[in-house]
Amino acid sequence: AWGCDSLDKAEAFIQAQGENGRLAMENFVGNAFAPSSQHMDSVDPKTGKAFAKVPISSAAEVDEALRKATAAFKGWSKTTVATRSKYLQRVAQLIQENRELLAIWESIDQGKTLARARIEVDRAVSNFSYFSTFILHQETAARIIDGVALTYEHRSPAGVFALISPWNMPLYLLTWKIAPCLAFGCTAVAKPSEVTSMSAFLLCEIFRLAELPEGVINVVFGDGPTTGSALVKSPLVKGISFTGGTATGIRIRKDTADQIYKHLSLELGGKNPTLVFEDVDLSKAVQTAATAAFENQGEICLCGSRIYVQSAIYDQFVAAFTAYVTANYQRGGKMGAVVSLQHYQKIRSYLELAESEKATFNTGSTPVADPKNGFWIDPVILTDISTSSRIMREEIFGPVVTIAKFDSEEEAVELANDNPNGLASVLLTKDASRIRRVGEQIEAGLVWVNCWLVRELGTPFGGMKNSGTGREGGEYSREVFTVVRTLHIPM
Ligand code: NAD
Repeated sequence: AWGCDSLDKAEAFIQAQGENGRLAMENFVGNAFAPSSQHMDSVDPKTGKAFAKVPISSAAEVDEALRKATAAFKGWSKTTVATRSKYLQRVAQLIQENRELLAIWESIDQGKTLARARIEVDRAVSNFSYFSTFILHQETAARIIDGVALTYEHRSPAGVFALISPWNMPLYLLTWKIAPCLAFGCTAVAKPSEVTSMSAFLLCEIFRLAELPEGVINVVFGDGPTTGSALVKSPLVKGISFTGGTATGIRIRKDTADQIYKHLSLELGGKNPTLVFEDVDLSKAVQTAATAAFENQGEICLCGSRIYVQSAIYDQFVAAFTAYVTANYQRGGKMGAVVSLQHYQKIRSYLELAESEKATFNTGSTPVADPKNGFWIDPVILTDISTSSRIMREEIFGPVVTIAKFDSEEEAVELANDNPNGLASVLLTKDASRIRRVGEQIEAGLVWVNCWLVRELGTPFGGMKNSGTGREGGEYSREVFTVVRTLHIPM
């Protein structure tokens, strides 16, 4: 029923369902779909209208899924890497074959543009194909110590994982967890965000078609307090890979504090700086900084939402940046709608604060309190804001960027690091020695130099400070999903 091959047909399908006939998503447990008794609405942010129902899974439903994953672990953890690799390839291929369908529903569910949704589906394909190859080439070094003992590290899958993802890049981020988890021999119960569950629901059908062994991957839908909380606290869960807000990361850490055995990988929020030095090519710098600020309506944890510009080019930069954003970021063009009414109101409250603090709005304005036709916010470029303002310090996670000045390199580093978060950063300069001098001092897990969002899936991904613990990607994902024992064999 969900198999629409164009955005228009999908919208007509939603209309035809009517208010009371909305289709309900179902959990995926032991390779079968299981209806749930409690639901909440799934809303299309571009219209503000509900289009489907998402289960709110109970603790008992979560437990049932965990039992299936636990039973499946016995067999799956013993399979060869060649076998697991083939399953992952099959999933990658099925996602590829259903690219447009997944992109259409992702765009309807999240508010993102269809173009952006297609990029993210492609990344979901890469997540599976990358790890399907990666596991085939793992090596373990053995050492002979003083000619008396042979030692080597033996890795084995860590167990059943809870994989929890946020609403901003739903399929992209959920598959970034599922692919390595299954590749390294673990089984899982995954829970996407209750706000954007649709692509995960379609992914379940792909898992069914891929004929993965029963219970290897299970998906439960639901909110944090009911479903997520039951999942992370269960003693059947041996590890958690979580991406979401810092406050939720702290909650999960507290909730699992006495379960020392649990592997915890936390990818949390950011308030990322973009540093623009006076030697840049202005038009290239404007373009990179604008993409970093407004891609996916600023709803990417890696977005550069604090821009600092060297004084000599500050006025020029603000004028060129404002003109570029005005010309290129329009509703329905590069800009989608923000994900939910709740999130719209959160962004709106920061803009009201900006007004009360007498900030300058170079573009955009505070949107209306009661939006009638979707959750649309035009890009906002703020200047004249104090560094101590909450607007500068807290993650807004929307199409809002601040621009401020710096004089020296030292000041630029100080401003960049003056934040409790440390996820990502952008450094724009042509000076090769400055790239290292400044780049190596920025307190962020990722420093993009004259570029943004460039990723190779083997490199470590993760944040410093309040932006998270642990790294994922290639070998780093192996750390998350396996346990290691050292063998000493006397010679
Ligand atoms: P959120 O923390 O509210 O929710 C994330 C997920 O956690 C959802 O699936 C939610 O249902 C679940 N959850 C909520 N409470 C829970 C609990 N007590 N126990 C278990 N699960 C619980 O985050 P969000 O609003 O969905 O996403 C936005 C945040 O995610 C932003 O802060 C953003 O920066 C961050 N993010 C980080 C990265 C990264 O890689 N570091 C990537 C994308 C988004």
